[in-house]
Amino acid sequence: MDPGSDGTTKLMASKYEKILLKNMEQPGYTGSLQDYEKAGGYQALRKVLGGIPPDEVIDIVKRSGLRGRGGAGFPTGVKWGFIPKDHPGPRFLCCNADESEPGTFKDRQLMERDPHQVLEGMIITCYAIRASLAYIYIRGEFRLAAKILERAIREARAAGYLGSRILGSELDVQIHVHAGAGAYICGEETALLESLEGKRGLPRFKPPFPATHGLYQKPTVVNNVETLANIPHIIMRGAEWYASIGSPPKSTGTRVFCLSGHVKRPGNYELPMGTTFRELIFEHGGGMRGEKPLKAFIPGGASAPFLTPDHLDVKMDFESVAMAGSMLGSGGVTVMEEGTSMVWAALRLMEFFYHESCGKCTPCREGSSWLVQILQRIWQGEGRMSDLDLLVDLCKNIEGRTVCAFGDAEVAPILSTLRYWRSEYEELIARAEASRSSKKELPVVA
Ligand code: SF4
Repeated sequence: MDPGSDGTTKLMASKYEKILLKNMEQPGYTGSLQDYEKAGGYQALRKVLGGIPPDEVIDIVKRSGLRGRGGAGFPTGVKWGFIPKDHPGPRFLCCNADESEPGTFKDRQLMERDPHQVLEGMIITCYAIRASLAYIYIRGEFRLAAKILERAIREARAAGYLGSRILGSELDVQIHVHAGAGAYICGEETALLESLEGKRGLPRFKPPFPATHGLYQKPTVVNNVETLANIPHIIMRGAEWYASIGSPPKSTGTRVFCLSGHVKRPGNYELPMGTTFRELIFEHGGGMRGEKPLKAFIPGGASAPFLTPDHLDVKMDFESVAMAGSMLGSGGVTVMEEGTSMVWAALRLMEFFYHESCGKCTPCREGSSWLVQILQRIWQGEGRMSDLDLLVDLCKNIEGRTVCAFGDAEVAPILSTLRYWRSEYEELIARAEASRSSKKELPVVA
């Protein structure tokens, strides 16, 4: 896809069948209820209400191999199965639409361009986990998406797809849109729940997990937008169909990859899991935007360690990217050309993480501030060689020692740039040290 000059997205043909972006590629498709129904929308809901018991829906999703598309990649059906069946209720579903990971912009497109696909996925999920109340926790800046979702909810309610006795069945589901106030950490599922309850968005200690103690301490499923949008298709076409796409058995289906940075055609590309980074960047993305070769790329949002041109043939699936030393994360692939300073790149990302640290735990709250200060002094020509060991030492004292995964995420840009481009740090520091010693040697002028 090409981002058009008017800010919309132009769509181009792909050799792969698309699942989630298919409707919006049709000429004149507006995402209205009428358009969605014409494209086969809400048939999956009719199908489950026509006689697939909730437990069987969970089993279908388990067999499809669908894993969460928000970042952690936890198996969706397994997560649903953790909801205790004997709990008197209420149970809740929360759609995590707080898409804030730098370099990630797929959920916004799914909500703005095909909102009913997300809603149908949510209604089926509510049926499967026996919830009658669901929330869409949406990033505060996504005002247009929130408006579109509100309109779609009204349309669905008027048509009998939402509300009481859906399509004449026993199923009752209400969906509410709740806008966040702009904190990155509210994309972490327990911070999201705190925020939804009206409190400050701070991650909770786990266990207990949301499946048993979620929203208002009741059983809750938190699923990402893209994850939920897959559900109607899995129901309609079957678990085996979905499980045959991508890199089975552990990375099935497609993924909407967000390509950004120094490429000719940034945008969202829906590709089967297991497609290589090379194909995404050079075939679908059109290659580098100028004459400079690729120097580095982030494979899965700002929280994922950097990779190098040597990793271009790594498959974009959970296992392959992990084996390459990074993670598929949110699916945001950011490309950097030769000439980009990796010290600068690490500093920019670290400034973001420092700004977004919620402050609940000491290693992250204090450590992120120190990491920014050290990187700043290196970048500004005031660094010393011992800073490199200090950076690593600090990172190791944050990694794995924090309340939430944010701690591991914030050290990833530093540790990975030090791993692959340590010489850039050393050159900057060596220049700074040379300049300092030459100043010391200047003769004193009487
Ligand atoms: Fe908050 Fe950072 Fe601790 Fe997570 S790791 S709870 S963001 S201070």
